[in-house]
Formats: sequence, structure tokens, C-alpha cells
Amino acid sequence: MNTPIQIVGQGVAGSWLAWECERAGVGFQIIDRGHAEAASRVGAGLVSPLTGRRLAPTWRFTEWRDSVLAAYREIEQELGCPLVRELRLRRQFRDDRERVRFKERVAASDAAPWVESIDDNGLWLRGAFQVETGRLIAALRERWIAQGKLDVSEVEPARVPTSEGRTVWCIGARAVGAIDIGCDWEPSKGELVRGRMDGLEPDVVLNDGQWLLPLPDGHVRVGATFERHDLKLEATEAAQQTLREAAERLGGQPLREPEAAVGLRVTVKDRRPVVGWLDAERRVGVFGGLAAKGALWAPALARQWLADGLSGGQIEAEARADRF
Ligand SMILES: Cc1cc2nc3c(=O)[nH]c(=O)nc-3n(C[C@H](O)[C@H](O)[C@H](O)COP(=O)(O)OP(=O)(O)OC[C@H]3O[C@@H](n4cnc5c(N)ncnc54)[C@H](O)[C@@H]3O)c2cc1C
Repeated sequence: MNTPIQIVGQGVAGSWLAWECERAGVGFQIIDRGHAEAASRVGAGLVSPLTGRRLAPTWRFTEWRDSVLAAYREIEQELGCPLVRELRLRRQFRDDRERVRFKERVAASDAAPWVESIDDNGLWLRGAFQVETGRLIAALRERWIAQGKLDVSEVEPARVPTSEGRTVWCIGARAVGAIDIGCDWEPSKGELVRGRMDGLEPDVVLNDGQWLLPLPDGHVRVGATFERHDLKLEATEAAQQTLREAAERLGGQPLREPEAAVGLRVTVKDRRPVVGWLDAERRVGVFGGLAAKGALWAPALARQWLADGLSGGQIEAEARADRF
């Protein structure tokens, strides 16, 4: 098929898919209405080996970390702007229960390789990194508009082919209720706050359930909240207050010049990404369900999809869009 593949949506999913098409010499055309509501513009781009209240291993972190970091380094060089940095992560215990639970947890074989040290107040994790996903998609947008490869418009999402050729929907939370994958999409709203703080160690993320990420320019980002019911893309005072308090607790000083940001994440019941063709003719595909892991999963899965010229045979079973 010589018709270029149509990629709708240019968050991290659409961007990585298009980037891999470009590397593989596969023709593509992107349609994106703009990044105002893109989760990839709002998200902090943190990638950590262990996450959440249970220090659960991030799916495929161990397998993909090094190749994904290398992919970001490559794209960083090509675009000429800084996108990725390696970090240490300080997980502080919130209470005695966490202290006991985490001390047991870090001895497990899936956690131990990423634990640098542990003390009475918390633990240090190695291996984390952070990607400026907003900067990445903005830079690629400029590049592809200049090359005539990106049209700024909106396409009505559909599971039937919308053009002569092939379409891949990379539309993040807009897939909810619009792209049928045989399983419910589960959206959630996340809020962050950005502001200023002084004197923090630059490449250390502080985390006690909420996290505080220092940026090289003296700003910090603090996040993130999780809300399943109110999905309006508006910041709420309650969430912002929680985040400002977390900032002060973690950073030891009040957050100055706070500025809210809001986005929608989307996942599915098995908490795995949703990638590949939906129909036997391979005309309609989807790349989504990236939850809070888009920075890690998008590059690796785009590469799997392109591994055999977009046939989709190399996408691993757990992530395949037709698994439901
Ligand atoms: C508060 C918050 C914090 C987060 N923190 C992290 C983190 O630390 N680490 C991490 O890895 N992930 C994080 N995430 C998740 C991460 O942002 C997502 O996994 C990722 O951005 C999803 O990318 P996407 O390309 O699927 O969707 P999006 O980034 O939402 O992109 C979808 C694109 O499609 C376009 N679009 C939609 N519908 C149409 C249409 N009909 N026609 C044309 N264009 C359309 C949109 O305009 C948008 O540009 C966070 C998310 C939130 C909300």
C-alpha cells in the first residue's frame, strides 16, 4: 500500500509512531487539532522503576529503560533541544506502616535492583528519568508542519476507515466513547501545580505519595492528583491545595507563583497499553491507553509496531489492541 498512513493525534503516541515511520521510510500524514488538551503537554514525563503506594514495578521498565533513553537521546540530537535527564528518586515514608511495608517490599527480586539505599526515613531509587514530553511534541509539531506532514484540523473519531488508506487513532482521552476496542476505556483527571522554589537538589525527585520535580530553570512541578468522576478539564481548589501542601511538605518552603495544569489520562482494565490494528484488513489502528506511563511506553511500542513495516506482528501480546 503506497498511500501514506494517516495518524490522527500528535501527543507522545502519535509523535513516536510518526517518528518511527520517518526512520523506517514509511509514508505518513498527521492530523492534530492542537495541543491545548493534550495529556502529553501537561504530564511531567517522569519514568520510575517502582511506583505508587505499593512500590509496584512499572510494566516493562527493566526491559525497555535503556533503549527508550537512547531513543530520546537520539531525537534530542536531531531536534537540537534538551528533552531527557536521568534522576534519583527519594521516596520518603509517610508513616510507620509504610516504613515496615516498604522495607519488606524492597527486598523482593523485582524491586531490589532499583533500590540504591534505605534508611529510617525513606529510600533512594536509581534508574528514574524525566522527559519533557510537552517540549518534544511542540518541537515535532513545528518540524512536521514545516515539512507539510502535519495538518492542523480535527477528524471525527470512528472505528471504520475514514480514508482510502490506513488510519491510526492516537487521540488520548478523546478515544473514550469514540473508539471501540471491545473493553471500556477508563479515563481519569490529573492535576499538577507548577511554581518556584529555591535551593533544591536539581536532579532529585522527592516523593511521599505526591512528588516534587525540580526543573533546571528554578521552577518545580508537583503532582499529581487522581480523579475518576469529575472529568472536566478545570483545576479545582481542593486538588490545588493538596498539591501546594505537598510542595511545602516535600520542598520545606512555600511554593511561589503557583500555576495549575490539568489533563486526562486513560487506561483499560488490565492497565496495559492498547496498540495495533483493530481489524483483520489492518486499516484502522489505535495507539493509546498509555495511563501515566506514556513517556516510557510510547517509544518502545512504536518501535515494535514498525519492526515489521507496520504489520503489527511484533507488538507484544499484552499490549495488542485486538486482545479484548
Ligand atoms: C497530570 C498528569 C500527569 C502525568 N504524569 C506523567 C508522568 O509523570 N509520566 C508519564 O509517563 N506520563 C504521565 N502522564 C500521562 C501522559 O501524559 C500520557 O500517558 C500521554 O501523554 C498520553 O499521550 P497520548 O499521545 O496518548 O495522548 P495526548 O497527549 O492526549 O495526545 C492526543 C492528541 O490527539 C489530538 N486529538 C484528539 N482528538 C483529535 C481529533 N478528533 N482530531 C485531531 N486531533 C485530535 C489532541 O489534540 C492531542 O494533541 C500524566 C498525565 C497527566 C494528566
